[in-house]
Amino acid sequence: MSSDYEQVEVPAAGSKISYEDGSLEVPDDPILPIIYGDGVGSDVGPAAQAVLEAAAEATGREINWMRVYAGESARERYGEDVHLPEETVRAYEEFRVGIKGPLTTPVGSGFRSLNVALRKELDTYANVRPTYHLEGVPSPVKAPEEMDMITFRENTEDVYAGIEWEAGTDEVERVREFVEEEMGADDVIHDGPVGIGIKPITEFGSKRLIRRAIDYALEHDRDSVTLVHKGNIMKFTEAQFRDWGYEVAEEEYGEEVITEDTLWEERDGEPPEDAVVVNDRIADNMLQQILTRTDEYDVVATMNLNGDYMSDACGAQIGGLGIAPGGNFGDGMMLAEPVHGSAPKYEGQDKVNPTAMILSGRMMLEYMGWYDAADLVRDAVEETISEGLVTYDLERQLEDAEKLATSEFAEEVVNNIEKLA
Ligand code: NAD
Repeated sequence: MSSDYEQVEVPAAGSKISYEDGSLEVPDDPILPIIYGDGVGSDVGPAAQAVLEAAAEATGREINWMRVYAGESARERYGEDVHLPEETVRAYEEFRVGIKGPLTTPVGSGFRSLNVALRKELDTYANVRPTYHLEGVPSPVKAPEEMDMITFRENTEDVYAGIEWEAGTDEVERVREFVEEEMGADDVIHDGPVGIGIKPITEFGSKRLIRRAIDYALEHDRDSVTLVHKGNIMKFTEAQFRDWGYEVAEEEYGEEVITEDTLWEERDGEPPEDAVVVNDRIADNMLQQILTRTDEYDVVATMNLNGDYMSDACGAQIGGLGIAPGGNFGDGMMLAEPVHGSAPKYEGQDKVNPTAMILSGRMMLEYMGWYDAADLVRDAVEETISEGLVTYDLERQLEDAEKLATSEFAEEVVNNIEKLA
């Protein structure tokens, strides 16, 4: 076991998850790194930890947590300029599977997103965000149970890649000159200060993400994979993503994957049994469709920015950010992370809903192959909410519910795990 960590402790007990020949070997006592995160992270982090620990114990296993740091907690430990310590990244690389709470990103100036940096460093290229309805959770739509979608969001490129230049700098003026004079796009950029960003969408990045979404659909008996893009406007990036997606569908799979066009041309719209249909929708239309034709969508594959917007909108339909889980997946690597941010106004109040972080942890347990523990977590959360024991965000939308603190809600979930096990 590596022990060359300076500011963090590797647990004395526990074993390492390993990855060989494309398969993950998970011991019954894994060491799992955890970042609590900024803002409400110090409430939801320990809450999720308690629940996941209880589910592991109830199924005859043991989690050995390795607390690592990023954001504010890293600056306190490592110095004012250290937002994402090298040994935090190394811990996730070494132990392969872990969880993190939200991290604050300053808008405009200051350091770049640590979440984006961590996803890039670990090459966890698929940000996966399932949205399904839990019984008892209030929702702004009439039939929230129709939502059972899983979004695969590309995690390493698009306008999130950080290739951008600030207005007023020499660099941005050089880019403007290049675009106008060498590339011939004169008469497009208005005179005066300008900020410029670049949107890379690669064949490699698109195809590996789309493959992962199709594989998931096949493995989980889902009916369709929808490529969501704004290709009518961004023809060489977003339309290209769609085209590469259809290429993957047509060239890399047999009869079990069929495109919507082929389905109509050759089969009158009738899919072969157990086949996954690959179709595409334009992003703005898709945001309407998830409201009006919710149950027609299953698995979605999309680029970084679309995926960010869309999964928040889907999250709202099933009860809001307090509920919506997520995970970042690479090859033999997974970092669970709720969709929500650090919600600074609720920091330290033991108030917000830890369900999103708990259900992100559930995705981690599934990735580890601990399906019994993962089901237990979901059932216990659902049971607790159905009993009317909820945090403020759900309590204000329910009649006769009891408002619990973050930590109290986690305790109730742990009690239900013990009852249901
Ligand atoms: P946010 O998700 O932190 O909060 C928005 C609102 O959603 C909150 O005010 C609250 O009303 C609600 N909310 C969020 N989490 C909740 C929970 N667990 N329970 C109940 N209600 C909850 O979004 P923001 O205010 O736009 O961002 C705050 C900071 O978080 C920013 O610095 C942003 O960059 C960062 N952020 C981080 C991540 C991440 O770490 N992956 C994701 C999104 C935003």
